[in-house]
Amino acid sequence: MRSMLVAILVAALNIGGCASSAPPVFDGESAFTFLREQCDIGPRYPGSPAHETVRRYLTDKLAASGADVSLQPFEAVTSEGDTLRLVNIIAKYRTGDRKRVLLGAHYDTRPRADRDPVPANRETPIVGANDGASGDAVLLEIARLLGASNPPVGVDIVLFDGEDYGKEGNPQDYLLGSRRFAASLGDYRPIAVIVVDMVGERDSRILLEGYSMAVSEALCRRIFGIADELGVPNFVKAQGATIIDDHFPFIQAGLPAIDLIDFDYAYWHTLGDTPDKCAGASLSAVGSVLVHFIWSER
Ligand SMILES: [Zn+2]
Repeated sequence: MRSMLVAILVAALNIGGCASSAPPVFDGESAFTFLREQCDIGPRYPGSPAHETVRRYLTDKLAASGADVSLQPFEAVTSEGDTLRLVNIIAKYRTGDRKRVLLGAHYDTRPRADRDPVPANRETPIVGANDGASGDAVLLEIARLLGASNPPVGVDIVLFDGEDYGKEGNPQDYLLGSRRFAASLGDYRPIAVIVVDMVGERDSRILLEGYSMAVSEALCRRIFGIADELGVPNFVKAQGATIIDDHFPFIQAGLPAIDLIDFDYAYWHTLGDTPDKCAGASLSAVGSVLVHFIWSER
């Protein structure tokens, strides 16, 4: 009798210890608040006061969600000889799990609006609502859900610094944070690396990015399949641009890595990249798919 009671208790504990099977609901308006709050801090390029302020903002939000948060500070010398002090932000959930998913986004913004239609604006830093804040906004909302609902797999959210510092034609000055992180992987081999960038535009359309499809087609198909199942219209199964983004160093490291990006954005690298061009529904489209992806892992 006693052993039976123990068995029942153990079974009950096991059930309690299992992750809940229903994915939590991604709140697009909550994510949009995270987007706006980053933009309210101002242009967040390396070396600016806002860059430090947003780092504290993001670190505090991730820590408040219950993640195990750490920082990866490093210096990068640009091709023009500037030394940048950069910091990647790493938030881990279910640290004991070997099977892990990495979600990434960059949090720095471009120091110059070099694509602005007005030549006089082209040295002015951008606020980066879509190109910068949108990816972090999605991941902060996912962080909130990961903290509140036990996911079935280990998840690492990494917010990369120094993605967008370089001048056009100087590729070595881009992707500084993701390259630094990918160089420090050791035996950390996530089953999937998913980067989100420029995912906040109203009526966004996320196409199949070239490197992602060339190297990580199965993961692309799975993500776009989940979007289909959920009836999310923002994911379009058509060939998109081929883009060097924060997923690229992970592809080079031999990991299945993809980039979810809407590269067709009229305000890209202009002073017009502001929150009014973005919408919670677009953040929700990407966030919901990622949440369902995480909760489909066992
Ligand atoms: Zn950019």
